[in-house]
Amino acid sequence: MDQRYDAIIIGTGQAGPPLAKRLSGAGMSVAVVERHLFGGTCVNTGCIPTKAMVASAYAAHMAQRARDFGVVIDGRSTVDMASVKARKDAISERSRVGVEKTLRSLSRCDVFVGHARLRSAREVAIGNLILNADRIFINVGGRAAVPPMPGLDRVPYLTNSSMMDLDVIPRHLVIVGGSYVGLEFGQMFRRFGSDVTVIEMAERLVQHEDPDVSSAIHDVLVREGINVRLNARCIRLDGRPGAVAAYVDCQDGAPSIDGTHLLLAVGRQPNTDDLGLDAAGVARDERGYITVNDRLETTVPGIWALGDCNGKGAFTHTAYNDFEIVASNLLDGAARRVSDRIPAYALYTDPPLGRAGLTQAEAERRGHSVLMGKRPMTRVGRAIEKGETNGLMKVIVDAQSQQLLGAAVFGTGGDEVIHCVLDMMYAKAPYPVLQRAMHIHPTVSELIPTLLQELASPQHRHAGHEESEDQ
Ligand SMILES: Cc1cc2nc3c(=O)[nH]c(=O)nc-3n(C[C@H](O)[C@H](O)[C@H](O)COP(=O)(O)OP(=O)(O)OC[C@H]3O[C@@H](n4cnc5c(N)ncnc54)[C@H](O)[C@@H]3O)c2cc1C
Repeated sequence: MDQRYDAIIIGTGQAGPPLAKRLSGAGMSVAVVERHLFGGTCVNTGCIPTKAMVASAYAAHMAQRARDFGVVIDGRSTVDMASVKARKDAISERSRVGVEKTLRSLSRCDVFVGHARLRSAREVAIGNLILNADRIFINVGGRAAVPPMPGLDRVPYLTNSSMMDLDVIPRHLVIVGGSYVGLEFGQMFRRFGSDVTVIEMAERLVQHEDPDVSSAIHDVLVREGINVRLNARCIRLDGRPGAVAAYVDCQDGAPSIDGTHLLLAVGRQPNTDDLGLDAAGVARDERGYITVNDRLETTVPGIWALGDCNGKGAFTHTAYNDFEIVASNLLDGAARRVSDRIPAYALYTDPPLGRAGLTQAEAERRGHSVLMGKRPMTRVGRAIEKGETNGLMKVIVDAQSQQLLGAAVFGTGGDEVIHCVLDMMYAKAPYPVLQRAMHIHPTVSELIPTLLQELASPQHRHAGHEESEDQ
């Protein structure tokens, strides 16, 4: 029997649930379909559990460093992985239960559990049940990509999802992929006590970042004892449970790495392959991302795609921003566009990297005449007081327009500090506004105006005008 609604939402990631709330609050009848865990990736296998584990890893690290601060811990500090997991599970569960409870408590909203497939541009099938609506919102997210690699079919491997079930500390965790997911897990497990090897195909870690930022991240990880193998083309895998081997064609180092556990962290792919998109006429690109315009409308009127599945972002905040754009345009008569947002994200290593806007390389590629302010965290008072002087911070501006182009803060509090640049960029304020702002002492943020007082062309800096350790 068909059931008719004003709107159907497929997936309960970061856009679907708030959209259900807004639409039902506006008087629409709404059907929400979830096939697995309420809250999706962020809540269950992404941001929330990983950041809970990063917090445990930080505590382990600080326990090791206690003496640096004059704190004496009698006896050895050790990590109880089962307790780390239990803490992480409790935090995730609270969110997951909260999402489901909220959805089920909404008036005019029905919640269905099952795999949804489009049957036409107005019909969604969940098994034998057919739902109808003039508006369909797709928020199906993505999953870990598992690209074909020689030997992978013979080797037990972990992804960001199965890592969540680990309640032991691997003796040697081998991670394929030296980007955001791989590095967060890598540092975390090193701090829990594992030997860790990160294998990266590119010539440097987090290769989307500027070379100075990526090299600072590399240095921190190596200093903590992580083995990093770069330029690892032609990776081949072999092994059995408890004994994995990765053969790498690196320029330096041993040709194979023997570990006990293997984590694949080589990117994500959208959950669009079994969604009936063809039956509805919804177009996808060659990587499977749903084609959308600047208002997140798909190629079929009445169908929108939000979150990771549209390829316009890969973060919780981009998925949530998608919800805000769609809801405002539909319900508030707004004309919001995806292209109005400024790229921003964090990498949750310790210290974290906060990023906003363009990298220096992107800005130069686009023809900006770049001025840069930069300093190592060893010259940031707050970092010295906290005993956390790893990293660097840099801000870039356009010399002609005086607009802030971007910033990277790889240092203590970097994930928070970056917002003082980001918000100025949204305000389109010329950089002297931020340069003259009075910030609170002692903070990392107080150095952002200082960086803007020390602007110079990057070439001038390379000629030897940076990185002095004086205060
Ligand atoms: C290890 C890791 C760490 C991360 N850390 C961060 C971070 O710190 N900060 C950050 O901003 N982002 C982070 N991310 C990214 C973030 O988790 C995602 O960008 C975000 O969850 C995307 O949300 P979404 O709404 O697009 O979809 P998802 O959260 O993926 O949710 C999609 C939902 O749709 C359901 N679904 C899929 N197909 C169907 C179907 N056919 N029928 C019914 N239901 C379906 C799924 O079960 C899922 O519940 C991380 C990701 C990973 C993997």
